Amino acid sequence: MMPRDAAPVLLWLRAELRLDDNPALAGALASGRQVLPVFVLDDLAPGHWAPGGAARWWLHHSLAALDADLAARGAPLVLRRGEARREIPRLVAETGALEVHAGDPTEPWARHQMEALERDLAGQGRRLVLHRARALFDPDAIRTGTGGWFSVFSPFARACHARGLDGPPCPAPAHIPSPPPPPSDRLADWSLTPRAPDWASGLAATWRPGEAGARAALRAFLDASLAAYDRRRDVPGIVATSRLSPHLAWGEISPRRVWLAASGAGQGRGLTSFLNELLWREFSQYLLHHHPHLPEAPLRAEFARFPWREDPAALRAWQRGRTGIPLVDAGMRELWQTGWMHNRVRMITASYLVKHLLISWREGAAWFWDTLVDADLGSNSASWQWVAGCGADAAPYFRIFNPVLQGQKFDPDGAYVRRFVPELAPLPDRFLHAPWEAPEPVLAAARVRLGGTYPRPVVLPAAGRERALAAFHGLDGIPA
Ligand SMILES: Cc1cc2nc3c(=O)[nH]c(=O)nc-3n(C[C@H](O)[C@H](O)[C@H](O)COP(=O)(O)OP(=O)(O)OC[C@H]3O[C@@H](n4cnc5c(N)ncnc54)[C@H](O)[C@@H]3O)c2cc1C
Repeated sequence: MMPRDAAPVLLWLRAELRLDDNPALAGALASGRQVLPVFVLDDLAPGHWAPGGAARWWLHHSLAALDADLAARGAPLVLRRGEARREIPRLVAETGALEVHAGDPTEPWARHQMEALERDLAGQGRRLVLHRARALFDPDAIRTGTGGWFSVFSPFARACHARGLDGPPCPAPAHIPSPPPPPSDRLADWSLTPRAPDWASGLAATWRPGEAGARAALRAFLDASLAAYDRRRDVPGIVATSRLSPHLAWGEISPRRVWLAASGAGQGRGLTSFLNELLWREFSQYLLHHHPHLPEAPLRAEFARFPWREDPAALRAWQRGRTGIPLVDAGMRELWQTGWMHNRVRMITASYLVKHLLISWREGAAWFWDTLVDADLGSNSASWQWVAGCGADAAPYFRIFNPVLQGQKFDPDGAYVRRFVPELAPLPDRFLHAPWEAPEPVLAAARVRLGGTYPRPVVLPAAGRERALAAFHGLDGIPA
């Protein structure tokens, strides 16, 4: 057994895969002891929201980048697979570590896991030290005037602004003193990336996972898009948003770093609007913290009785981008090809599923969970509930996005639909978002055969809207 004064501390990296502004790393270094960085792939136990396929692809590349960054500072990453509650104490026993420093989890299952682990480690005379690494604010500190929790975004955002960030970021250390590492799994053996068929080539062409990629994405956004963010953020055919979401979801950059960099680089409405979106992320995490059932149960209890339809064929058409509604299909194909979808189109595709198709938001959230590189339990669950009308501060159920009007407004030149639904590209702009309205000669000239080269709508916007409103009004107790 290692003498106590030479004992190291473990730095347990979970979803804060970075060296810059990582309070868990700073805490581990502040112990004055050698630091052993570890990552545990805990994806086997039931009840955990294990990363979906696209997120696993991201994780693989992010861990490879992190390992290189850590090794360059003298502290290679140790990988273990299994239940964290067993693997962490095992590593503690192997290395004689005195403390375990980790990021504070937001997922309810992970919080339970941490509580249990804390007790187990205390039984071994060891300490688990948690650091806030993913959120801007302590969710227990942001309270209403009467001491309760916010359920409406605007006053929540005002309370965050009034509180202000606590403290400056902690920069990445130049060197991390580290003990000789215990045996590690090989990343390649975890099979996080797909074998044949390789569905991830579009992801690889779109993204650069890892801390350096996150910094580059932030820089590009600040230089090219922040100033006009408020005016252009809803246009899916152009790159006008930061595309930082997967980097933030995996903690490759801290929200504090993003907030401060944007505040230093921008001003006016572009900046205000961008900070507001960072606060929507914060609000989603806050909701998950205070409502641990958010991923499974509607926040508005009356929606538990909503008559969702079981329609596997329609669900599959939606998942595959074959609903016959061009903007919806473009969004779902962007998701499949790149692991990401523009925010406005996320709202439209989600609305089409829960309102026009009357399929439960939980089905949609599960598909997004599996296909998004930025899958985040708080943001995904809160956003789906928001669209379905059953969440906190949600859009009223009767406010139903019309995907044709949305397309004409936000994709007027059809750049987005033409990119992802190329079989419709030759159609004139006028009919691009509603090909079923095009006269037969126009379709023929564009070589579009509805029901052949492109599907007829599963449900037309107007008919779907009527059906959704009828289902909604059939429920007692849901205020309009
Ligand atoms: C149905 C649905 C599901 C969603 N699921 C997720 C998810 O799993 N993970 C996720 O990160 N976002 C999710 N979002 C929110 C949002 O669509 C993405 O965060 C955003 O599109 C990411 O693009 P960006 O990084 O360019 O965002 P920007 O516009 O550049 O915004 C900056 C950052 O703010 C945060 N943000 C922006 N908009 C929102 C929002 N509406 N809610 C919460 N955070 C926001 C993100 O972290 C984002 O990276 C979902 C939205 C909807 C409607």
